[in-house]
Amino acid sequence: MNIGFIGLGNMGGPMAANLARAGHVVTGFDTASVSIEGVSLAGSAAEAAKDQDVVITMLPNGNILRSVAEEIVPAMRAGSVFVDCSTVDVDSARAVAETADKADVLPMDAPVSGGVGGAQGGTLTFMVGGSDAAFNKAAPLFEIMGQKAVHCGPSGNGQAAKICNNMILGVTMIATCESFALADKLGLDRQAMFDVVSTSSGYSWSMNAYCPAPGIGPTSPADNDYTPGFAADLMLKDLRLSQQAAESADADTPLGKAAMDLYTSFVESEGGSGQDFSAMLPRFEKRSRG
Ligand code: NAD
Repeated sequence: MNIGFIGLGNMGGPMAANLARAGHVVTGFDTASVSIEGVSLAGSAAEAAKDQDVVITMLPNGNILRSVAEEIVPAMRAGSVFVDCSTVDVDSARAVAETADKADVLPMDAPVSGGVGGAQGGTLTFMVGGSDAAFNKAAPLFEIMGQKAVHCGPSGNGQAAKICNNMILGVTMIATCESFALADKLGLDRQAMFDVVSTSSGYSWSMNAYCPAPGIGPTSPADNDYTPGFAADLMLKDLRLSQQAAESADADTPLGKAAMDLYTSFVESEGGSGQDFSAMLPRFEKRSRG
């Protein structure tokens, strides 16, 4: 396929390189100067999007996505597919989909989980919103860039799935970290705590697959001095998006809000920026109740 790829950063760069390596003709664009193996660069987003079968975007936020969409949709061929893989707010995803629909371009929101390692290794998971026709056209590309693509329904539902998942992740990581800190103060050995919880009803991905206590459970960022992994800053971004969506849908999400508030303090005033999101554990360790 002929593919336009806009946003060649930490995630987009390796995703575009994997598509080129698999034999697709990839034309890229980024506002920063970049060089990606196998990808030829265009002078503008519109130029990268012109006459392609599929255009993929991987951008920082919803406002940038909206402005890039305004520029590229008029340049895109009718019947071509516009796949946005960025993590953005549901409202922006749906607004961009409407712009594309009006121009007979098939829109899809397809945010990912798996991080930079998943982008490099082609093992991302895609959560996809959009029509069956669009999903079927892009499915072979998801197979190259990832290991799994779940079609979650119409436009916006991919973003909805992503922020609901990450709201659960933020809440369970905090619960796991505060429980470890309480266990410490009660004199409970961390290995015993892990052995019990990981096989009891308190188990979760945060405990079992990504244990925030160094030296306990499978290898995780805790074993590498809390180098991300999944940065606390990105967790905060996703928790903010989930609260924005909860506001706009009038959903009561008290624990999601508490998680957002905690990660806000952690990132903005407690040195958590640049650390893995599981570094909540040393944060709780240092604190007392008052
Ligand atoms: P990044 O900052 O490394 O890359 C974004 C790229 O977009 C940059 O190269 C930037 O120059 C480019 N850009 C900005 N404005 C542009 C414009 N108008 N036109 C063209 N290019 C433009 O960020 P990233 O880590 O690659 O993340 C991209 C998206 O993926 C974000 O929405 C993020 O939330 C999501 N995400 C990231 C991770 C991760 O672990 N990094 C994991 C899952 C999802």
